[in-house]
Amino acid sequence: MKRISHWIDGRVVESTSGRSGVVYNPATGEQQASVNFASAAEVDRVIQSAKTAFAGWRTTNLSRRAEVMFRMRELVDANRKEIATLISSEHGKVLSDALGEVARGLENVEFACGVPAMMKGGYSEQVAAGVDVYNIRQPLGVVAGITPFNFPAMVPMWMFANALVTGNTFVLKPSEKDPSASLFIAELLKQAGLPDGCFNVVMGDKTSVDDILDHPDVAAISFVGSTPIARYVYERGTRNGKRVQALGGAKNHMLVLPDADLDQAADAAISAAYGSAGERCMAVSVVLAMDSIADEFVTKLQHRIPNIQVGPASEPDNEMGPLITGEHRDRVVGYLAGAANEGATVVVDGREGVPAKGFFVKPSLLDNVKPGMRCYDEEIFGPVLSVTRVSSYAEGLELINSNEFGNGTAIFTRDGGIARRFQFEVKVGMVGINVPIPVPVAYYSFGGWKASLFGDQHMYGPEGINFYTRSKVVTSRWPDPASSSVDLGFPQNR
Ligand code: NAD
Repeated sequence: MKRISHWIDGRVVESTSGRSGVVYNPATGEQQASVNFASAAEVDRVIQSAKTAFAGWRTTNLSRRAEVMFRMRELVDANRKEIATLISSEHGKVLSDALGEVARGLENVEFACGVPAMMKGGYSEQVAAGVDVYNIRQPLGVVAGITPFNFPAMVPMWMFANALVTGNTFVLKPSEKDPSASLFIAELLKQAGLPDGCFNVVMGDKTSVDDILDHPDVAAISFVGSTPIARYVYERGTRNGKRVQALGGAKNHMLVLPDADLDQAADAAISAAYGSAGERCMAVSVVLAMDSIADEFVTKLQHRIPNIQVGPASEPDNEMGPLITGEHRDRVVGYLAGAANEGATVVVDGREGVPAKGFFVKPSLLDNVKPGMRCYDEEIFGPVLSVTRVSSYAEGLELINSNEFGNGTAIFTRDGGIARRFQFEVKVGMVGINVPIPVPVAYYSFGGWKASLFGDQHMYGPEGINFYTRSKVVTSRWPDPASSSVDLGFPQNR
């Protein structure tokens, strides 16, 4: 059985902790590998390696650091297929979806190539007689990334590209459910010329996360995962004096107004709800349909669902793969089983006709879903789309704004005025106007509001550069020795 282990100082290092986890093939339900879980001593070794590497890396020229990222860009591009295949094999998502993940991750590597322009400070000349003031951006030190199972390559790329080019060294703790993509990335960074120790990977579960959160040599933590763990990581990390950005879960609503192109909106809802089997933090999980078009819209959704090809990623025609584990499948099925009792209408039941092997749930559609039902209130993170009927734009907006989460949302309409009003009024971090999955391009930043983000810096893009650097302001004077005198007064500018 394949055994997956840590990456330290530019090579794979076996674990002696005696603890490990199971990596499944979600399409068959069988174990395909085991992954070592680090001991506290191993976590410390990983962090010490990154700490040692930091001294040399932060003094490496900015252009040289960017050059490593340029090479990394070429390597990821050349290895798209291999990375995507690896993702599919452990996560279960179909190859086209995994290729999309790599492409969106690569954008962040490309963004990081332009870091020299973003590391510029400001300069004010002659703020007082012979005095100049300028600010510089410096790296934080060792920074850690803790990532979820659903984007095993893209989410690490959101983090390490900006962290490394700004001069930090990086420790990645990937999801234990699909850890292999992180090792492939580590190999590519080595090939790109990144010095050993600048990027290390530690495999583990909650215990390793706690060891990272408590380690005095970790300056900052980027986390992506579910809301309860994001809140926990934020609270424990900041209590320990670290800078933390922790992105959490979601319940993304798509508001469909009567004037929308309903066929286009139905295509969009289906794509955004069932792509990657709904295991995306930007998946649409609730459609808010206005009463006047709700019946028609539900029918349009229902008619599209049987056309979705569900099955293993290994078969190229399949469009939707399995869920990540049997435990997660059972959770998702639990929402379907309970929906009717809570008063929802089960229009399409994804428990029916699933492949005999593997962790599959087929696309499911619930209608007449209301707040207070579990299937509405909780993040399902599976291929279950709920329709909630609303009588007005105002009622739809109120549901979105009062929701615990605020990751993504979308409005479908042909009315520019109402769309602009929505953009102004909605309390959500990422908004789509006739765009169902509004994941920002890499030169903006990604992040939700409310329980979808703990911390004040969004991830990647300009806010990512802010997060991984701190500003230092220098006030300097090169006095003329001829005019030197003692003056105990507080320095003034005028
Ligand atoms: P998760 O919270 O279970 O795990 C995320 C990471 O935290 C993993 O590395 C895991 O090992 C670690 N972890 C798990 N339990 C822990 C604990 N008790 N203490 C400390 N660390 C722990 O999330 P997941 O199931 O891997 O991913 C799915 C979740 O991530 C969904 O809620 C989804 O919405 C969210 N997500 C959010 C975004 C975003 O950008 N907001 C992006 C992707 C996924």
